[in-house]
Parts: sequence; C-alpha cells; structure tokens
Amino acid sequence: MKKVLVLILVLILVGCGSKKDEVKEEPKEEKKELTVEDYKNNSVDELGEVPIMMYHGIHNKKNSETEYTGGNVDKDGYQRTTEAFINDLEFYYKEGYRMIRLTDYVDGNIDVELGKSPIILTFDDGLSNAIKVTGLDKKGNIIIDPNSAVGILESFKKKYPDYNVTATFFVNGGLFEQKEYNEKIIKWLVDNGYDVGNHTYSHVNFSEVDSKKSQEEVGSIYEILDDIIPNKYVNIIALPYGSPYSLDHANMPYIFNTNYNGKTYITKSALRVGWKSESSPFSKDFNPKFLKRIRAYDNNGEEFDIEMNFNLLEKTRYISDGDVDTIVIPESKTNALNSDVKRTVKTY
Ligand SMILES: [Zn+2]
Repeated sequence: MKKVLVLILVLILVGCGSKKDEVKEEPKEEKKELTVEDYKNNSVDELGEVPIMMYHGIHNKKNSETEYTGGNVDKDGYQRTTEAFINDLEFYYKEGYRMIRLTDYVDGNIDVELGKSPIILTFDDGLSNAIKVTGLDKKGNIIIDPNSAVGILESFKKKYPDYNVTATFFVNGGLFEQKEYNEKIIKWLVDNGYDVGNHTYSHVNFSEVDSKKSQEEVGSIYEILDDIIPNKYVNIIALPYGSPYSLDHANMPYIFNTNYNGKTYITKSALRVGWKSESSPFSKDFNPKFLKRIRAYDNNGEEFDIEMNFNLLEKTRYISDGDVDTIVIPESKTNALNSDVKRTVKTY
C-alpha cells in the first residue's frame, strides 16, 4: 500500500514538473518588449480618435441603381447599398482599421495589433436587411442572406480573419422584423461575436415624452432581451433621432437609470446621431454617456461624410501599441490623458 502511494506521489511530482516547464517556455516566444523605435515607426497614439460608424439598412443594390450621391439609398444617406457597404469594409481594412466591440471601447479594452487603429460598427432600427434569414437548415440553424449586412460581414470574417469582424445592433420592439426567426437571430448574433443593444420599444423621441414613458421605452427592450439572451446584451442605448441633444435633459436620468416592471436597468452609454469620431477612452474628453457617431454616407467628401471623416482621421487616429493592458502615448499628449485611468502608461 505504502509503495503504491509513494509511486503515485512520484508520478504527481513528475507530472507537475513537466507542466511547469511547458508554462515557462510559452511567454519567451510570444512577447517581445517593444522599444521607443517601434512606437515611433508605427506612430503609436492611444489618445487618438476612434470612429464609431452609424449604419441603418443595407440594400441589395449597386450604387448606379440609386438616384442619390454615391452609395446613399435615400436623400440623407441613412440607407446604404450593398456595393457601398462592401467598399466601406475593404476601405477600412486597407487603411489599417480593425474592428472592436463597442462595449470594449466603452470599457477601455482596445485589443488591436501594433500600428493598427480601432473602428466600431453600429446598426440602428433592427431592419430585416441587417440580418435577413431565408430559412432554417436541417439542424434548425438560421440561413442568413449573404447580401444582408451580417451576410456581408460574415464573408469578411472569412476573407480577413485579422479584421476581428463584429458590430452592435440596436433594436426596437419589432426586433429584426422577422417574427418567426427573431429569437433565433438574436441568439445567433451574440453567439457569433456580435452585440445587441437598446433603441427603445417604439423608436421614441425622448424629447417629446415624460419620464414614465421614457422608462417604459427603455425598460421594455431590456426586458425582451433579458428574456432571450440574459446577461448577453449590452447596456448601451442608441438614442432615436439622437434626441435629447443634451445630457442635461430632464429625461436623461431615467434613460440611464430605468425602473420598469419592478426591475432597475442601468445603461452605461448613450449614442448620438452623427457626425464625427470620438475621443480615446483614455482621454480627458471621453464621456461614455454621450458618444458621437459618424453617419456612414457619401457627400463628395463634405459635411462629415465617410471620406471627410477618414481624411480627418489621418492626423488624429488612435494607433495601437498592440498591448491591451498598456497605454502608449506621445510625450506631447501627456496633458490630454485622463488621470483616473488605471493602466500602465508609457510616454515616448
Ligand atoms: Zn433609429
């Protein structure tokens, strides 16, 4: 009996020893310490600006099939052609942008490789062309129309695995306007690297209702999401019409702290409509409660369209050091850093 015990002990010790060795070897190959030269060569700037793109519907059309500028399907460019959307995604990738989740941006978790810049995609209104389901396969999984926004995003996932394809979809009470598939769609999204957030039950204009109605509009969407994907949706709201336009509005406290049906829902961020990039989450100017977005539309490089914004970003964009835990900034920007940020900061 004793012999057996000793043998087991020896085996355990040997096992532990060999495991330790394996663990020790891993980091050597993985991480190499970056130098100031690396930062300079890549113009690393983690206090640079981040584009949050605002899309609505993606329509299976060529640009030449619309009567509006570029890839706009409507006069104001809230709806976009598939041709333009595919070109947008190619453009962002080639320009060195890599996608991150909106919720990660708000929380200051920007995991992008060295020299690359973060970009965030959002889709409002839960339109069926955001993720169009054409049926179910033999196993009961949804079949997604390759020409809907998610169909196109999935093709980019395969084409550029390092793009880190993701997006946040803001839904109303109609969810994705596909009654028989809505629940499956929402589950599929969060299981496949996408996020779902709140766009109010009836696309309400918060400036035109009272605090009770505001809470019903916000709370009922969270209740629906709680039911379908508990703990998996994001507590972020895209304000319909970008309204109210000020954080001081009387309904704002009820939008961020909502009591509905005996439950309290806390919203960590509200998204506005238009017009330009947002601050780095490590900047003094960063306010997660009220975030600007870029309207993804064409206007010949004017009025803060995509072209104009990405031209502006050439001088101001966030450029990553490749390490999610460390903030690297040029010496000249030290004053712009939010002193509450609890991360290792390196200046160069
Ligand atoms: Zn909307």
